Amino acid sequence: RRLGEHDAIQCYTEQMKVDAMSRLSMESALREAIDKDQFVLVYQPKVDADRGRIVGGEALVRWHHPTEGVIGPVAFIPLLEEMGLIGHLGQWVLNQACDDLSRWRAAGVPVVPIAVNLSAIQFGRQDLLDSIRDTLDAHEVGADMIELEVTESALMRDTHATAEVLHGLHGLGLSLAVDDFGTGYSSLAYLKRFAVDTLKIDRSFVQDCDGGNHDPAIVRAIIAMARSLGMGLVAEGVETEAQARVLQAHGCPVMQGYLFARPMSEVDFRTALRDGLPG
Ligand code: C2E
Ligand code: CA
Ligand code: CA
Ligand code: CA
Repeated sequence: RRLGEHDAIQCYTEQMKVDAMSRLSMESALREAIDKDQFVLVYQPKVDADRGRIVGGEALVRWHHPTEGVIGPVAFIPLLEEMGLIGHLGQWVLNQACDDLSRWRAAGVPVVPIAVNLSAIQFGRQDLLDSIRDTLDAHEVGADMIELEVTESALMRDTHATAEVLHGLHGLGLSLAVDDFGTGYSSLAYLKRFAVDTLKIDRSFVQDCDGGNHDPAIVRAIIAMARSLGMGLVAEGVETEAQARVLQAHGCPVMQGYLFARPMSEVDFRTALRDGLPG
């Protein structure tokens, strides 16, 4: 199942929606979105490489704009960062994910750890640890049920501060994944020092690994490295059977991508947790 056109069109129309709004009106619309609770979380399953069982999920935010429809995060997260409001969204996302988790649990559905994305700005904030702990406590969600995803570049910004934050996160019992791994410049030495738990192999390498003319060397090297350092590993953006086969053959234990499931509503994800993925 090769994608491309559909996604390109979707991106294009999303970009048009955003272009159509002036910067100023976009800013006021975003403030209103925060006030009026116009954000929604969707969840994308992470599956076990052998059996396609759901072993985790990633929470991804969407903006349900009252007139423009659904707008994806790439179109508004950078703006929220510039506006100094990314902390608000981040707090909302974590709170919503914990709320969903506790409701799934109450409904008797077998829950899996949920990953939330942190922007670099949130990662640098002093109150990060306190607010995470308070949110987990408020929902009676264990720290082992939430995973944080931070990009490689965010981790490498200020390595001293990063080491401290990671120490604190681990102290709370949270685990951390390096998102988009391979696109930044993190060194092995830092990965070891930070004791990051999981690497998420960036989609660009996954898409280059499916046999034929493509070279799986990078993917193979990342998998070997993660395994030798005892880290968890997730391949993101898996779209084809061929990619999944190569990844599995090289020992990648967890995969995420359109091949298995697209990001889905909270209700659909809950159903998938209960009944498994179709097919
Ligand atoms: P990401 O963390 O790398 O998330 C993966 C993105 O790839 C998601 O796009 C997901 O829908 C998409 N994706 C998943 N599987 C496939 C696949 O097989 N093929 C392709 N082509 N794409 C796939 P989405 O939801 O548009 O999110 C884009 C980015 O926005 C995320 O990239 C993340 O960096 C950011 N983001 C999303 N939600 C949040 C959030 O709550 N907070 C923050 N700070 N950032 C977020
Ligand atoms: Ca992510
Ligand atoms: Ca990613
Ligand atoms: Ca990405």
